[in-house]
Amino acid sequence: MNEPIGELLPPPRLMMTPGPSNMHERVYRALATPLVGHMDPWFTAMMGDVQILLRRVFQTENRMTYPISASGSGGIEAAVVNPLEAGDEAIVCSNGWFSERMAVIGERTAAKIHRVVAPYGNTVDPDDVRRAGRGHKIKLIGLAHGETSSGVLQNLDDYRKVADELGAILVVDAVATLGGVPLDVDRQRLDICFSGSQKTLSAPPGMAPITLNPRVEEIVKTRKTPVQSWYFDFVPIMSFWGSERTYHHTPPISLIFALREALRLTLEEGLEARWERHRQNQHALIAGVEAMGLQPFVKNPADRLPTVVAVTVPPSIDEAKVRAQLREEFNLEIAGGFGPLKCKIWRVGLMGYVSQRSNVLLFLGAFEKVLGDHGFRLPAGAGVGAAVHSYSEAGAVAAR
Ligand SMILES: *Cc1c(COP(=O)(O)O)cnc(C)c1O
Repeated sequence: MNEPIGELLPPPRLMMTPGPSNMHERVYRALATPLVGHMDPWFTAMMGDVQILLRRVFQTENRMTYPISASGSGGIEAAVVNPLEAGDEAIVCSNGWFSERMAVIGERTAAKIHRVVAPYGNTVDPDDVRRAGRGHKIKLIGLAHGETSSGVLQNLDDYRKVADELGAILVVDAVATLGGVPLDVDRQRLDICFSGSQKTLSAPPGMAPITLNPRVEEIVKTRKTPVQSWYFDFVPIMSFWGSERTYHHTPPISLIFALREALRLTLEEGLEARWERHRQNQHALIAGVEAMGLQPFVKNPADRLPTVVAVTVPPSIDEAKVRAQLREEFNLEIAGGFGPLKCKIWRVGLMGYVSQRSNVLLFLGAFEKVLGDHGFRLPAGAGVGAAVHSYSEAGAVAAR
């Protein structure tokens, strides 16, 4: 009973999952920086640096840009519960697990939620959204930019247009896309946009960067009823992350240090170079799996999310056993499907620091070996060969 509990020694996994992603060593160092109290003038000044960095990554001038002390789901919650109250109506575009979560959270408010649904693997048709809004006073349209449960990317400009027609604000879940896929909050006029620290930004899990524009500030200031959530209420947070720095709650100081470094790394590389790197690695990975005789789950190439590649599991293969062998034999973690896609797809994450040429080639080599062990017949070396070819075609400038 008195066995000592040993030192913490996690296995050195390569996490090619839809988050968390592996982190750059500079982010680990920032995480281990000694604590400074959150009301210390040094810390409250440093909070301003984090906000400047976040504005640059979101590409916005919004005053209210800050990291919520919560995972990505806290971002969804804050974005939905703040604008909505009794008597309001909202549309949520539901095409997967995470966008559906936005609808479920919306239903816990006093507002009426209209779902516009598309099957997994598809985008939501903006015309369906337009039709759903006809004859209603829609306050908010919400959607996921990148739906990680199925690997689908949606074109935000199409939904912005519908939101303008309906007079609604646009709420965008960019948890899987910020820092990896083109996104420009001010130019695309996204009223609320949030992300998650552990995905394409490659910081530790536990923070949800968010930005909201003056139109949203006005909506929350003129609410008739208080926001149902004390913790996520934008108004008091505006005093903490705004100029006053009035205490609201103790933020995860170490996580903020790490996020600051991850944002610095993002901007050092440059947003455009980063988007191009994600695109090249995605294309090489897809070329590789196709050469192995497998199919990407998302049929339309334009709808494929650069940060998560969904691959259809061939009929005879037990997908969980493949994942377990990749983990045990290669220290490589990929994800399976969930909900209606359980056992049907693998999801291979190429997020932030993980989106590297060496990881793509390692994955394809390991995947080929493991699938071979499971009796899947494929031409030897085809996957790696096709990926190498894809890189040389692309010039492989950005994909490192
Ligand atoms: C991961 C993810 C979330 C949820 O984030 P958590 O950090 O797990 O709470 C929400 N939306 C999308 C698109 C995601 O990929």
